[in-house]
Amino acid sequence: MSGVGRDYPVHRGADRGSEPVAGDLSRHRLTVVSGPSGVGKSSVVGELRKLEPEIYFSVSVTTRAPRPGEVDGAHYHFVDRAEFDAMVDGGRLLEWAEFAGNRYGTPREPVEKALAEGRPAVLEIELQGARQVRAAMPEARLVMLMPPSWEELVGRLTGRGTENEAAVQARLAEAERELAAAGEFDHRVVNADVREAAEHLLNLITADQFSEEAEHHE
Ligand code: 5GP
Repeated sequence: MSGVGRDYPVHRGADRGSEPVAGDLSRHRLTVVSGPSGVGKSSVVGELRKLEPEIYFSVSVTTRAPRPGEVDGAHYHFVDRAEFDAMVDGGRLLEWAEFAGNRYGTPREPVEKALAEGRPAVLEIELQGARQVRAAMPEARLVMLMPPSWEELVGRLTGRGTENEAAVQARLAEAERELAAAGEFDHRVVNADVREAAEHLLNLITADQFSEEAEHHE
């Protein structure tokens, strides 16, 4: 195994005792989780949510129609194109992108609020958005979730059954582009096992907080 095993410490929020540094957003790094469609981002981020409830998980706005079971305000804020564009024009999105024919964006205010309160914040977004975050907040930590293999990703995407053939093809084309950009990310985490990938992510987030505290108390 390459670093995704259990041989690293997993720290719980309640034990952390960190002091929020009001107004200094740079001390609380944003973590961006990207990765191709079908790699299991939602499952891994969902597992991370269970492991560490202190983390703020951004809820994106999207013009995509809800999938069966998706809840407005929980999985996404589902908006129409006019509402989305008004948010862009009003500077209310931290980043946004068009992906496979729909628009997706991160509401700015809740993320900034969480960071200002000293909570780590996590965005689950695609590559173009990750690049915008990097440009706007160079201190953000970028993590790419990788499939164990390309064949595995194709199997997961075609087996999901929530998209038609054209949409699956569009997502596979995007997936190829996203994986080609893996080198731009600070960390690459292979999702062979959801729990292990989530623990790996949590470890990256908490390890970083401890080093920031050490630096802060010098
Ligand atoms: P899906 O339609 O499968 O829910 O999401 C499609 C892609 O859009 C995924 O790669 C997902 O991570 C990404 N995505 C979700 N929310 C956002 C967002 O707010 N901004 C950006 N740039 N991408 C997002």
